[in-house]
Amino acid sequence: MLDLLLRDVRALTLRDDRPRAHTVGVSGGRIVGVDDEVAGLSAATVVDGGGAVLAPGFADAHNHMVWYGLSLAELDLSVCRSLDELYDTVAARAAQLPSDAWVVGSQYDDFVLGGHPSREALDRAGGGRPVWLKHRSAHMCSVNSAILAQAGILDGTAVVPEGGVVERDDSGEPTGLLAEQAQQLVDALVKPYPVEELAQAVARAAKVYAAEGLTHVTEAGIAGGWIGHSPAEAAAYQLARQRGDLTVRVELMPAAETLHPLVEDLVGLDLGVRSGFGDDFLRIGPMKIFTDGALSSRTAAVTEPFEGDGGLGVLGDDPEVLRRRILDAHRSGWRVAAHAIGDRAIDLTLEAFEQAQREFPRQGVRHRIEHAAMVRPDQLPRLAALDVVPVPQARFLYEIGDTMFKSLGESRVPWLYRHRSFLDAGLRVPGSSDRPCVGNGAPLSGMRNMVERTTSGGVVLAENERVDATEALRAFTTHAAYAAGLENRRGRIEAGMDADLVLLDDDPTSVPTSAIDGIGVLATFVAGEAVHGGESLTYAKRAD
Ligand SMILES: [Zn+2]
Repeated sequence: MLDLLLRDVRALTLRDDRPRAHTVGVSGGRIVGVDDEVAGLSAATVVDGGGAVLAPGFADAHNHMVWYGLSLAELDLSVCRSLDELYDTVAARAAQLPSDAWVVGSQYDDFVLGGHPSREALDRAGGGRPVWLKHRSAHMCSVNSAILAQAGILDGTAVVPEGGVVERDDSGEPTGLLAEQAQQLVDALVKPYPVEELAQAVARAAKVYAAEGLTHVTEAGIAGGWIGHSPAEAAAYQLARQRGDLTVRVELMPAAETLHPLVEDLVGLDLGVRSGFGDDFLRIGPMKIFTDGALSSRTAAVTEPFEGDGGLGVLGDDPEVLRRRILDAHRSGWRVAAHAIGDRAIDLTLEAFEQAQREFPRQGVRHRIEHAAMVRPDQLPRLAALDVVPVPQARFLYEIGDTMFKSLGESRVPWLYRHRSFLDAGLRVPGSSDRPCVGNGAPLSGMRNMVERTTSGGVVLAENERVDATEALRAFTTHAAYAAGLENRRGRIEAGMDADLVLLDDDPTSVPTSAIDGIGVLATFVAGEAVHGGESLTYAKRAD
């Protein structure tokens, strides 16, 4: 007796031996088999797919779920088309808030607005309230005088962290723009967030994810550094899980700063984890470490200067500190996920991985390079030799490709967010969004971006790095499962795999490319339970 039978579906199994199926049986949260393997078995619930397309549930190998969930409650500034419109939006929100409340907005785009918001205008718009507006890249933010004062930046008492930039005008006055690690000065005023607030953010994000067909996501950095919201951030996920609000499986990457010496020469963590932590829905993944900044803010660490201002970007910390952290984590049995965008940061990361393997050889480690945005040809075989998992986001090509082009110049464009070259080198390339650092993080959108590689301005960047739609689907399913070390549990429709499935109103591998992101998600199943769209399914039989 099966729990669930999905019949009359066009299943894309992503198996080489049996790529298509029409019936899928589920029991105990796992797939039991397809077609003849489940023929004649009865089921408590039978769903008639009406010929809809069934794929393995989508995975997002790099997202920031709490942060995204928090942003859903903030002012959405991505819709603002001018600075005046942004100031009006801030003023309207401020007018609804108590006189000492913070006005928090996110997703503003200086490129669209024609510049960053001015501190003085934010003072006026906020009516005396602190105003904190986060850039869409998350690598910078604009604040007003109230926050500059509270953070000790106006009176000069603040100590700007290594790798941070406080922008100043010609007379030396802070403009209100804070980049990279300097954002920690604002964070210190609001952190740690209450666990309850973070658990609600997880719940908000989970709803969106389920509607987009996501069944598994990797949270790229919690509990420490500028990326963490609370030292007990894992507890917020656990609380959401207990409440039934966590409808997507999550792998958590503790920030590098959370690991500390434990016994002998081992480093480890205390995250706010308590008894009962860790199951098929929530587990600890790699350690996350930032080795540089971002391309949009020209803080990625590059070997050749950016066009124009000629800067080389910034490393996330002293290079020796970064190398030591990676070595210590590797030696202590951790997988490492190193954020590395510029080719200089990727050099540093590869050198650390190579040294780690020389000194403390480990099989099948699967260290990761998050973003791996600018990879020189000579770096490709080094990635392959280490079996590193690169985690690029083709979405960035669309969102900031035009500015990348300007800051890197034509000669470096072929290195950008490679995909085909990684596959040709024998690497697995998981799909991911880096949400909320991009406006649209939906997996079907990401697939379209991988296939097209078009900027919002209509330019195709590094056309020879394109992949086809099946490879893009594989990225968001099979390869994302590999990146999490779960390729035998997720990413294919096959007996024994988790019954994480998505029912679509069309086939992303056969529609015209431009229609991939218009495909509707009819239902999302996690462990055989509908977490989205269950009410609109056609039931031939329904268990009570
Ligand atoms: Zn990220």
